[in-house]
Amino acid sequence: MTQLSTITPIEYLKGVGPSRAEVLKSELDIHTFGNLLNYYPFRYIDRTRFHKIRQLHPDMPAAQVIGRLMHMEELGERRSKRLVAHFRDDTGIMELVWFQSTVWLKKSLKLGAVYVVYGKPSLFNDQLSMTHPEMELYQPGAKQAGNMSLQPVYSSTEKLKKFTLDSRGIQKLALTLLETIAHQLEEDLPDYLLQSHGLMPLPKALVAIHFPKNQQELSQAIHRLKFNELFFVQLKLLKNKLLNTQKFKGHRFDTVGKRFHTFYHEQLPFSLTDAQKRVIKEIRKDTATGAQLNRLVQGDVGSGKTVVALMSMLLAADNGFQACLMAPTEILAQQHHHSIRKLLGNKIAAVQLLTGSTPKKDRRIIHTQLEDGTLDILVGTHALIEDTVRFKNLGLVVIDEQHRFGVEQRAKLWRKNSTPPHMLVMTATPIPRTLAMTLYGDLDISVIDELPAGRKPIKTLHLYESSRLRMFGFMKEEIAKGRQVYIVYPLIKESEKMDLLYLEAGLETLRNEFPLPRYPISIVHGKMPVKDKEFEMQRFVKGETPIMVATTVIEVGVDVPNATVMIIENAERFGLSQLHQLRGRVGRGAEQSYCILMSGDKLSKESKLRLETMVRTNDGFEIAEVDLQLRGPGDIAGTQQSGVLDLKLADLTADHALLAEARGSVIRIFNEDPRLTKPENARLRAYFAKSDAGIGWEKIS
Ligand code: ADP
Ligand code: MG
Repeated sequence: MTQLSTITPIEYLKGVGPSRAEVLKSELDIHTFGNLLNYYPFRYIDRTRFHKIRQLHPDMPAAQVIGRLMHMEELGERRSKRLVAHFRDDTGIMELVWFQSTVWLKKSLKLGAVYVVYGKPSLFNDQLSMTHPEMELYQPGAKQAGNMSLQPVYSSTEKLKKFTLDSRGIQKLALTLLETIAHQLEEDLPDYLLQSHGLMPLPKALVAIHFPKNQQELSQAIHRLKFNELFFVQLKLLKNKLLNTQKFKGHRFDTVGKRFHTFYHEQLPFSLTDAQKRVIKEIRKDTATGAQLNRLVQGDVGSGKTVVALMSMLLAADNGFQACLMAPTEILAQQHHHSIRKLLGNKIAAVQLLTGSTPKKDRRIIHTQLEDGTLDILVGTHALIEDTVRFKNLGLVVIDEQHRFGVEQRAKLWRKNSTPPHMLVMTATPIPRTLAMTLYGDLDISVIDELPAGRKPIKTLHLYESSRLRMFGFMKEEIAKGRQVYIVYPLIKESEKMDLLYLEAGLETLRNEFPLPRYPISIVHGKMPVKDKEFEMQRFVKGETPIMVATTVIEVGVDVPNATVMIIENAERFGLSQLHQLRGRVGRGAEQSYCILMSGDKLSKESKLRLETMVRTNDGFEIAEVDLQLRGPGDIAGTQQSGVLDLKLADLTADHALLAEARGSVIRIFNEDPRLTKPENARLRAYFAKSDAGIGWEKIS
């Protein structure tokens, strides 16, 4: 017989065979013994606790009852069609109700037999009932039910159930599997780690998560397996980071020269915050070492990331290198270009803008200046990535509002010099600490955790439609003071036509309330030609229009300090980080700013929580935490490539302490044994030998 192991195809498991193997693959992505081993129960039924029907109460969570299945009939028509059974024990009777799979259930349930049912008791028309309870034939003394104090429950699908792979069926397979391979499961962490972290050995944990003897053993098993998930994500990330710093020599920026000094002492119109100074210092320190820099700069909206980027680019220029700044949209690139030119004045460095709409003639000039080295700083969109854009000596790439760029795009920039340029990545909104550790575990992280002095916190209000007139009145007051107002409409990709309708309907009401010529309005939306967009933006930037109506194209970056009111229509349709980002468009000057969230009356629980969170806090990091809790990591951009989504048990919100513990131990290991050559780290070395050792994209981020 061939050796069975975790990589053995699932069809070789006793009781599986080809057709069941097919559904296991298609429905649950279970291809191998190992996949099934890692298909953990999602909960456990405490088989030691039974209730009598008379004890059941609608306020109870799910309960388990032994009784006899009496009388079954199908009731109702079409949509209200249901299967109703009577279930009794020696204390009373209750109804069991199913709305789905009724035909199949009616065939497979045995009238008159004794069952263990598990479900949530409820009261309907004074009648105690359970809807869609789990049913299991009562088998006194049977191996599975009787001996198991905690019975595993696996999620299954309709299709699997047709192959008798309901929770019970999967449980049987898991049992067979463990009987087959439990004795050859191997530990994958060094023994000293098990000891220092008090971890259950892996083979035991894998058995216990499927078939725990008791609650305590289960908790230990879950803890151990969570630790593994977090540990190996960190191990991979930090190994890449180690490779980066060892393998890639970086350009050495060892002088702080004239441009940097002139800018700092003569041009900068404000003093830097301590946080900005600290981050610039971190960047200077990194770039002076001769290793390649990969740094993520996190900072809340308005914390002043642009100046940090600019000063880093001047540092590059002082050392004879070129730098580029890439932004995700044309508007943003223009704005960066504009503000950088304004900040620098005319003499410090040569700066140009390159976007998709740069005319051919200008483009040619830019290309020449880039190649002969007369251009110091190039600002642009993804147009910078094109192969025709060649630098004489690119030393630093700054990527603003990082999440919009794919990893491949970053890699292309990386290749624009024979020695890769330093990479500085700036996030648009903060990422929760735990997520940053996993997403960007291979980057160094700097945090600008301070807003420039003198900023007044933005006041945020949530208003319903009934307060619209009040809102208009408030707009007028602010405009009368000389301030400017944004009104943002939601944008749903699926139906841009609908969005425009919203925007147009809104505009009509607005025009009645704010007539011309007194109130000129700028309008910007995604469907407009770039030229018109820019024209409209500029009118607002210059203060010629008091009101700007826009879809979310203005979401990131735009900087008009005189704008003090941000009104967000249909605010319930925006995500939290988007709302926060939009709010960050105001509060940039010295005046008190306001954010007004307009919403319909009917709000889902989640929308309510989002709006409440916005009203409660201005802290981007706090908002990011709530966002992570609401959406999970899957919806947060960037997670797809990171391995975070492979986490089955660990939860980035709840398990941050364990994550820190795992990361800490990985850092210690690499400090003491960077190549994992010590005998006690043999298992970790084996992990890399087994897993794909190729150089992945992730090492470039
Ligand atoms: P973000 O971090 O959101 O990209 P910006 O770089 O656009 O923020 O900066 C927001 C505004 O704050 C800009 O108008 C910028 O000139 C200004 N600013 C940046 N740093 C300071 C500072 N230290 N003191 C005062 N204003 C600052
Ligand atoms: Mg910015």
